Amino acid sequence: MPKPKRALLIVDLQVDFADPSGSLFVAGAPAALPFVLRRVEQARAHGDLVVWSQDWHPASTPHFAPFGGRWPVHCVAGTAGAELLPAAVLAQRPDDLVIRKGVAGEDGYSAFSMRNTLTGEVRSTGLAAQLQAAGVTLVTVCGLATDWCVKATALDALTAGFTVEVAVDATAGVELRVGDTAAALREIEAAGGVLC
Ligand SMILES: [Zn+2]
Repeated sequence: MPKPKRALLIVDLQVDFADPSGSLFVAGAPAALPFVLRRVEQARAHGDLVVWSQDWHPASTPHFAPFGGRWPVHCVAGTAGAELLPAAVLAQRPDDLVIRKGVAGEDGYSAFSMRNTLTGEVRSTGLAAQLQAAGVTLVTVCGLATDWCVKATALDALTAGFTVEVAVDATAGVELRVGDTAAALREIEAAGGVLC
């Protein structure tokens, strides 16, 4: 079987972001979900590599508001809120890659890198090397949230030299400020990404 040249990268389709009960629910997530699952089906049909990222924080991190950060507590490692949505779990296969980010308390927005908010140090998740080793040249990004983790992931993928598409209907934004999602998509396009 030839090595896959394309990867579908599904960002953070986790209970805390994608389920209405989640602590950082993204309102557009339920509408995006069928489009994500369709992308997964298409990727299977093409034999593409499928990658799932998960926000995976320690219980105490400067990423969270109670510890000086921006966000309510979410996606704490090993909790129900950090699990992928049941529909995503059903769509997973053993050969898929799973990338966990923020694991040591960093701001883990990108599936490719994690930034320590205290020291500014940026650490790789290893994803770029894994994709390159698999022969991947084109990465299609979807999932949550457009204006944070999808944006950071797409920009990092471009920096790492991949051709990058963002499947817009399979994403949804947090919109802390109205217009953040549209601005994120423009930033991805300006950096060389293709909206599809
Ligand atoms: Zn997070």
